[in-house]
Amino acid sequence: MKRTFEYNGLPAHVIFGYNTLDSVRAEVEKLGVKRAIVLTTPEFEDKGKQIADLLGSISAGVYPCAKMHTPVAVTEDAMEFFQARKADGTVAIGGGSTIGLGKAIALRTDCPQLVIPTTYAGSEMSPYLGQTEHGVKTTISSRKVLPETVVYDVALTHTLPPRFAAASGVNAIAHSAEALYAKNTNPVVNLMAAEGISMLHEALPKVVANPEDREGRFDALYGAWLCSIVQGQVSMALHHKICHALGGSFNLPHADIHANVLPHAIAYNSKAAVAAVETIANSIGNQNAALGLYNFNLEIGVYTSLKDLGMPESGIEVIVDQIMNTPYWNPRKMNRGALTKLLQRVWLGEPPKYDPDQ
Ligand code: NAD
Repeated sequence: MKRTFEYNGLPAHVIFGYNTLDSVRAEVEKLGVKRAIVLTTPEFEDKGKQIADLLGSISAGVYPCAKMHTPVAVTEDAMEFFQARKADGTVAIGGGSTIGLGKAIALRTDCPQLVIPTTYAGSEMSPYLGQTEHGVKTTISSRKVLPETVVYDVALTHTLPPRFAAASGVNAIAHSAEALYAKNTNPVVNLMAAEGISMLHEALPKVVANPEDREGRFDALYGAWLCSIVQGQVSMALHHKICHALGGSFNLPHADIHANVLPHAIAYNSKAAVAAVETIANSIGNQNAALGLYNFNLEIGVYTSLKDLGMPESGIEVIVDQIMNTPYWNPRKMNRGALTKLLQRVWLGEPPKYDPDQ
C-alpha cells in the first residue's frame, strides 16, 4: 500500500436507487436553477420530454442533438439554444455523449448541472471533458464541468441492449483498472476500484443473460458508479490515451474501443505495475488479468477488432504518432515498437501479449 499519497475527494450530491426520477424537480430547484434545458441524444428525445414534464414550469425545453465524442459544432449549436431559451442550468439524461454536452455547456457558462446517467460510461463523476474538433479529441480537466447533482435510476438501465451494456460495463472497468496504477492513486481509490471491477465482473454476465435481472442491473450500475468516482479522482494513462486517440480520429464507438483495448493496455503495463495488475486479476478471479479480461469480452459478447469496427489499417500509425507526440503519464514508458504491435493485435482482434521494448 502507498504510504504517502494525496486524496482528491470531489463534491457531488448523489441519489441512487430504483425509480428516483420523482426527485429531479426538487433537486434542480435546490441548485437555484429557474430555467433548465434538458439534453438528450436524438434516440432518447422521448425520455427528455418525460423529464421536461417532471420539471414543469422550470423546463426551458429539450435539446435532443447530443453526439458521441462531443463535437464542438454541436456544443455551439446547443449554446445558441441555451441562450435563446434564457436558460440557467442543464439536466442531461443519457450516456456519456449527453453528459459530455452538458459539461461543454457548463465549461462555457459555469451553470449548474443535474445529470441522470443511463449507461456505465462514468462521465458524471469526473472533472474531465473530451471535445472533438477537426478529427482530434482533446481532454481538459476543470471543476467547472463537474456535475453538481447526479440522480441514478437503475430502472432506466433496463433498456440498455445487452451487448451495449456489456461494452459500457467494460468501459467502466477500464476506469478502475487504470486508477489502480495511476500516478496519483491512493488506498481509498484502490478500495473502490477493486470493488467496482469485481461488481461489474459479477453483474455483466447476469445482465447479458437476462436484461430484466434486477440484481444484475443494480450491481452493474453501482459498480459503474464506483468506477466513475475513481476515474474522476486520479489521472489517466495509456489505455485512455489510446481510446481518446481512436475515438477522436476515427469516430469509433466509445464503449467498444474501451472493451477491446483494455486487455492489451493491461498486458503492456503488466511488468511495470505488478501490484495493480495483481489486484485486477484478483477482482476478476483469474491469475492472468490481461487474458482474463480478453476472455471476459468473449464471454459477454463484446469481442471484436478495430478492423471490424471500421478503422483502416493505416490508422495504426496515425494513433501511434498521436500517443508518442502527446503521451499521458504511464507506469511503463511509451515505446513506439511495442505500441505498434499492441495496436496491430487490437486491429486484428488477437489476444493480448507482452512485447519488450524495441
Ligand atoms: P452514448 O452516450 O453515446 O450512448 C450510446 C447510445 O445508447 C445512444 O444512442 C444513447 O441514446 C443510447 N442509450 C443511452 N442510454 C440508454 C438506455 N438506458 N437504454 C437504451 N439506450 C440508451 O454512449 P456512452 O458510451 O455512454 O458515452 C460515450 C461518450 O462519453 C464519448 O463521447 C466519451 O468520450 C464520453 N465519456 C466521457 C467521460 C469523461 O469522464 N469525460 C467518461 C466516459 C465517457
